[in-house]
Amino acid sequence: MRWSESCIPTLKENPREAEIPSHILMLRAGLIKKLTSGVYSFLPLGLRVLRKVEKIIREEMNKTGAQEVLMPILHPIDIYKESGRIATFGPELFKLSDSNERLFALGPTHEEVITMIARDDMRSYRDLPQCLYQVLTKFRDEIRPRYGVIRAREFIMKDAYSFHANEESLDVTYRKMGDAYRRIIERCELDYRVVEAESGYIGGNESHEFMVLADNGEDKILSCECGYSVNLEKAVVEIIEKNTKKPDAGEIIEVNTPDVTTVEEVAKFLGVDRKEIVKTLLYRVGKRDIAVLVPGDREVNETKLVNLYEGEEIRFLEADEIKELTGGPQGFSGPVGLPGGVKIIADNLIGNFSEMIIGANKADTHFKSAVAGRDFEIDSFENLALAREGDKCPQCGKSLFVTNGIEVGHIFKLGTKYSKSMNAGFLDTDGKSKHFIMGCYGFGVSRMVAAVIEQNYDKSGIIWPRELSPFDIIILPVNSQDSEMIKIAERFTKELEEKGMEVLLDDRDLSPGVKFKDSELIGIPLRLTIGKKLKEGKVELFHRSTFEVDEIPLEEATGKIMESFTIKR
Ligand code: ATP
Ligand code: MG
Repeated sequence: MRWSESCIPTLKENPREAEIPSHILMLRAGLIKKLTSGVYSFLPLGLRVLRKVEKIIREEMNKTGAQEVLMPILHPIDIYKESGRIATFGPELFKLSDSNERLFALGPTHEEVITMIARDDMRSYRDLPQCLYQVLTKFRDEIRPRYGVIRAREFIMKDAYSFHANEESLDVTYRKMGDAYRRIIERCELDYRVVEAESGYIGGNESHEFMVLADNGEDKILSCECGYSVNLEKAVVEIIEKNTKKPDAGEIIEVNTPDVTTVEEVAKFLGVDRKEIVKTLLYRVGKRDIAVLVPGDREVNETKLVNLYEGEEIRFLEADEIKELTGGPQGFSGPVGLPGGVKIIADNLIGNFSEMIIGANKADTHFKSAVAGRDFEIDSFENLALAREGDKCPQCGKSLFVTNGIEVGHIFKLGTKYSKSMNAGFLDTDGKSKHFIMGCYGFGVSRMVAAVIEQNYDKSGIIWPRELSPFDIIILPVNSQDSEMIKIAERFTKELEEKGMEVLLDDRDLSPGVKFKDSELIGIPLRLTIGKKLKEGKVELFHRSTFEVDEIPLEEATGKIMESFTIKR
């Protein structure tokens, strides 16, 4: 392909709208173009990479025996009412209506559509198991679209769904899919972790995420030397030693704590450690209020809280609502004397407190020596504290450390969540009707392109892994006015294309400096430079990843290029 006839609009400057390397480089290398917030076009160079990611994914999916389908993007809203997901998706679901005012949604995933297909067309245990997949544009009205195609509102996903007669069969497919995801990421030459994950609004029992390690990743992963990895959202803070201490506290004591509101300040004022204080956070869940108790040195894991109250709206109480509910100002809330209807949920770590320092629901006042079960009642214990670096590994007890990752894939054991709510089943061997046991498996195709760049760039631009590069080689005649150089460049282009290589010929009439910079920016692994050395019968083969240059006699060039091209394949 000739660059002079292509739409590859490279940019010299970093675009102001982009914050992280992959976003900057995708715009600068002319891979994508923004239409509006979270909505991008893939230009020719970007599309070539996207297609290569899709190709790898399709090959690996087909190897597992999954079959490709293509489902609609436009979904009648009723199917989300049937599954109950209209509430859990909330504002992320893009909604629209037709000319008859019938409501539709643009598909964010396809559990409902595929479950309807299975309900009609997989009637007997003999039809199972089945695994269907597609590669399709998805729509989600993300609260904060950012980082280009990493968190977009319109993006491309590979989604697969499997149907089974029993758990054992689901286990087999789940494992196969996990292995396929590993191979996909390994073919893209990326460092990654497979982590235990929360199921989120897709729901279900067990799930794993595939995280490409990247400093700019939005996800935090807790890992251990022993190989254990978990998403921070999912991690449970291990209770190292169970409390056996009986409270030797006397009566609950009111203490004056003037002008101190944060846990830090209260601890300092009372001369205690932050973890001796218990924080009380007040939330509105639907129409009722709850109090959540966590140790003073811990944050609440919002994801776990949202999952605990699946489908309900949750928000913090405002200062005036706190005043109305507790009688005290914000910053002094505590569990003693709350109105009867307010449920008190404590993190499991609180079970280890024999006595506590808590807010007294009164300005400038705390209680010391408060005892649960005597001064107030805890309605239930849950895992709600957010884990952090240094917490203990649940497998080996060593300290966990944090790394950042970009989630490119997510696999779930759904169980009967959708088949029950949508009443989809089959006749089993015993003649009884049973609900399908399901799995679902998502992979972010467009996000993957950005994730690859996050791990493969330098100050000059992108460095594509071999299998994903938009072209295998760029041929760069230094002077486009020199007919000899152009002739040789065209001859190499033809010859290498005939040998099956994808060749970009930079025949633009621009200064050599611009052409060199652009070729490094777009990151093609090999560059054949046809320049001054041509007089000596030589050309230069430049390796993008190492900046190494081999000077090669003209007649040996094709052989040498094919060697470099095939070695790493
Ligand atoms: P996230 O936690 O990043 O929002 P998710 O849990 O909502 O992801 P899934 O519903 O599991 O994502 O979707 C499957 C895959 O689709 C994800 O692993 C990710 O690679 C990709 N994906 C999800 N949301 C987006 C988005 N807004 N833009 C681009 N890719 C996305
Ligand atoms: Mg999401």
